[in-house]
Amino acid sequence: MKISKSKLLSFITCPEKYYLGYELNVRPAKTPSDLIIGSSTHHLIASHYIRERAGEPCDLQEFLAHFWSRYRLDNTDFLTREDLEAGMHQSLEFARLFLSETDFEPLEVEYRFSLPVVNVKTGEVIPDLELTGIIDLIDRIDGKSRAIEIKTKSRRPDGFQAEMSMELTCYAYWLRFLDDSETIPVSYVNIVKNRKPYIHWQNQERSTEDFVDLFHTIKTVAQNISDGRFYKNPGVHCNWCDYKPVCSKDVDAVKERFSGETIETLQDQGLIQV
Ligand code: SF4
Repeated sequence: MKISKSKLLSFITCPEKYYLGYELNVRPAKTPSDLIIGSSTHHLIASHYIRERAGEPCDLQEFLAHFWSRYRLDNTDFLTREDLEAGMHQSLEFARLFLSETDFEPLEVEYRFSLPVVNVKTGEVIPDLELTGIIDLIDRIDGKSRAIEIKTKSRRPDGFQAEMSMELTCYAYWLRFLDDSETIPVSYVNIVKNRKPYIHWQNQERSTEDFVDLFHTIKTVAQNISDGRFYKNPGVHCNWCDYKPVCSKDVDAVKERFSGETIETLQDQGLIQV
């Protein structure tokens, strides 16, 4: 079994969300505009560094046009053509801001990892399980490899979020196998979407105790998934969950958000009566 960082975080937020998204493959018919803008920004930044490392020129406008060619009003939640074009230009503006305000010489760009899950204190390994994910950028600081995660945020995030971030712990866990250091540096570089967007750094470190906690969390989540134990964990996060109409049995909103085939799946599972 492979468990991606995204699946792990989804299960921890709400097991029902994981079940709907990854077990039933229920996805909204239209890709959310914020997700597209964030993905486009990542794509432009990654393309810049990949071209730079290859010693080739990078025309961001060309990458932008290619990335957005798959999006239209009927497969996104942009309301108008003008909104879609504004989103496209916003992502270019964010990528240019990032590239002009940061000074990276990345060793790796969009690095895929897949690792066994090991208790770094006792050596216990969870059999037949791998943790997978993609690190946006890896650079070196003070002689150590550092994982960088780029985020687009609507407001300045608080420090607690980065301190507790399991996402950053997953990245550090991978880097630990590269460097074998006591502490591993990890950072969020946030592009904050204010009226005047700006870059905000959150620098963190992870160490052995964090990796032991991660081991126990992954072990519990993997066991729950194998046993089919899924349950709702309602909270403030429901406000930005794709499945809120399903959980609140809002039939009209379900019809608006999901395609006919997906609605059939939800009906078959007894999750909604249309
Ligand atoms: S709406 Fe809330 S309870 Fe329902 S799946 Fe989403 S996070 Fe879980």
